[in-house]
Amino acid sequence: MNGKSTTTAPIAMRLKGKVAIITGGASGFGEMTAKVFVQQGAKVIIADVQDEKGISLCNEIISSSNNHAYGNNDDDDDGEFISYVHCNVSDETDVKNLIDLTISKHGKLDIMFNNAGIPGDLDPTIVGATSDNFNKVFNINVYGGFLGAKHAARVMIPRKSGVILFTASVASLVAGESPHAYTMSKHAIIGLMKNLCVEMGQYGIRVNAISPCGVSTPLLSNALGMDKESVDRLICESAVLKGVAPEALDVANAALFLASDEAKFVTGLNFVVDGGYSVTNPSFSMAVQNMFS
Ligand code: NAD
Repeated sequence: MNGKSTTTAPIAMRLKGKVAIITGGASGFGEMTAKVFVQQGAKVIIADVQDEKGISLCNEIISSSNNHAYGNNDDDDDGEFISYVHCNVSDETDVKNLIDLTISKHGKLDIMFNNAGIPGDLDPTIVGATSDNFNKVFNINVYGGFLGAKHAARVMIPRKSGVILFTASVASLVAGESPHAYTMSKHAIIGLMKNLCVEMGQYGIRVNAISPCGVSTPLLSNALGMDKESVDRLICESAVLKGVAPEALDVANAALFLASDEAKFVTGLNFVVDGGYSVTNPSFSMAVQNMFS
């Protein structure tokens, strides 16, 4: 494997002075994004329902910061650059409190990363689908993102500034590979992102989504019941781009770009991070191969 990346040694503070909320920030993409954002000078609030994990991640980031692994260690922050808030994204009171807490602690919100999500049941059939699962997936993946965007917009509009990001998925582009509820939820988030991009443009607020392919985070490893190495092997076999395995850092780096001023004219984008997975459909060549094997 080549192209292995590292989170150390920031060249410049690309988010210096920014305040960011990351939902689902205790694990996977959110966890890595929290580390990268802090390295790049942001004050980060991790919002999740996994309290123990969220708090221990904060402690890890604070102690790495004391060891100078992070860039955001220069002023009188005293650990204030990273904090954890319990927030169930599908509960409006929780989301409202999260935003209000952020404002009372830091005075503003620059970046709202609506990243929390669940895969739901893996049964791919419509007949096997249950309403319970549909409601659960939509409540977190869609309603949760909607609430996050709503309450972030409430505080961003008066300042005429801000960035709203969503984590969607290649399931927003490729059909037949994920269960119905999950696929629908990720299409829905792209619909919200595009609609919001139009409404928020007049206030100078940018709205974008990131669509990763499968990456061996706890979400995918648990859903498939496989260890990280087996998941990585599967993903690499199905990738167009060979020689690199996707990692959470690839998603965090996409979030960093979209959140930073480098993307100041980028809005309404579904930023795909999939090593080319979604641009091809190998079913014809596989059928040909099967015919001659
Ligand atoms: P993960 O399970 O490692 O992290 C998701 C986090 O969301 C967890 O910490 C979990 O506690 C949190 N969460 C779940 N329900 C919540 C709720 N109601 N309120 C607040 N937090 C909640 O998974 P991940 O892979 O990092 O997933 C992050 C996002 O990326 C999800 O939206 C997922 O759909 C999307 N995604 C994942 C993959 C993948 O292969 N890992 C691919 C494409 C998209």
